[in-house]
Amino acid sequence: MVINPVKGTHDIIGEEANTYSAIEYNCRIVAELFGYQEIRTPIIEHTPLFLRSVGESSDIVTKEMYTFDDKGGRSITLRPELTAGVMRSIVSNKLYANTDLPLKYFYIGPCFRYERPQAGRYRQFHQFGIEAIGSTSYLQDVEVIALGKRVLDSLGLNKVKVLINSLGDDASRENYRAALKEYFAKHIDQMCEDCKRRLEINPLRILDCKVPEDRPIIEGAPKMKDYLSDEARGRFENIIDALKKIDIEVEIDDTLVRGLDYYTGVVFEYHMSEGDDVGAIGGGGHYNNLLKEVGGPDLEGVGLSFGLERLFYVFSKESNEQIYVNGPDFYLMGMDQFAIEQNFTLANILRGTGYAIDMNYETKSFKSLFKIADRKHSKFAVIVGEDEIKNAQLTVKNLKTQEQTTVKVDDMLMVFQSMLKEYVEELEKGETFNG
Ligand code: AMP
Repeated sequence: MVINPVKGTHDIIGEEANTYSAIEYNCRIVAELFGYQEIRTPIIEHTPLFLRSVGESSDIVTKEMYTFDDKGGRSITLRPELTAGVMRSIVSNKLYANTDLPLKYFYIGPCFRYERPQAGRYRQFHQFGIEAIGSTSYLQDVEVIALGKRVLDSLGLNKVKVLINSLGDDASRENYRAALKEYFAKHIDQMCEDCKRRLEINPLRILDCKVPEDRPIIEGAPKMKDYLSDEARGRFENIIDALKKIDIEVEIDDTLVRGLDYYTGVVFEYHMSEGDDVGAIGGGGHYNNLLKEVGGPDLEGVGLSFGLERLFYVFSKESNEQIYVNGPDFYLMGMDQFAIEQNFTLANILRGTGYAIDMNYETKSFKSLFKIADRKHSKFAVIVGEDEIKNAQLTVKNLKTQEQTTVKVDDMLMVFQSMLKEYVEELEKGETFNG
């Protein structure tokens, strides 16, 4: 019986995995440039964590969580996002008590949502994200938005737009919520079942409804910007001005509310400005009450996350940056069983010295071995035939330039070192990227 992958999951293999690694590496470097440290939290958490943080009115909680009882009868959920787990970890480890504020963490890892699989939407996907907790300054919000932009720049993605909105402070949002409730109550009979439920729990969620028939009603709804307190409006303007000063242009989108209930203050998303619309590549926002909500002190925070699958998709389509494809340094080619056994000993020595080595175990013609070495993106092929064995030497071929040299086995380590150095120097001139 063939066992298929679980619907909505995907395998990431070989060169694709290299590209994912390179994207993750870029994200990590940018986060470190901005002073963020890595945090790794468990994939499973107690279900109430997400009910309290992501929110009972969100689609994630109402429809999309992978929740099960473990053998001890505890309700466990596979994390649908990582922010909640980071907050839980800050509380569990009392990080706020013994670390300078703001706490600044970045994460990379898988998330799980029972969504309808489609382009750019999986049931297991991966996120890179950051959280900064414990600063009240608007510049902390600006830093997070700028970090996201820097991630995109570092991947050569420049056809990007940044959408931004403010959900205001608690008082502004209460007034807005009341206005929305009054407005939607008049139209709710014509709206979808989800919106009927949202009206009762959290009318703000209706703004995020994707049902096309509901959109005209939503377009006519009161706008958050008309309900912002002077303070909230001032902060939002400060954020936009500060972004402008560092050359980040934003578009104000007053229907942007994001899919998670915990945001207060600024919210934002990164989209491609041209090409296929795969939805938001990333997004985030400010949250006043999240840490308190999960049992921590009253510290506000701001965060963002990118979907790595979406970054991969737009990177593969839009970016001119090249990803270095890992291959062996040397592919050892033996034409018969004796040569193969000699090569095995050689491989052991070379790997011990730090060279990446691959080799053949089945006898094959040199012609097909060269093809294999090429397909594996090997830098050099090392040929061991009858003559080489007789003379205790190796024939080494640079697979880029096709130059061939003979090397004495005794000199091998030294010569290989200089050959590789030369190869890498060529590569750095930008002419000979593998792949
Ligand atoms: P969110 O945690 O909902 O704010 O989503 C942050 C980012 O995660 C989005 O901008 C997407 O790039 C990505 N994302 C969310 N859901 C999915 C999914 N089902 N499949 C792939 N990527 C996703």
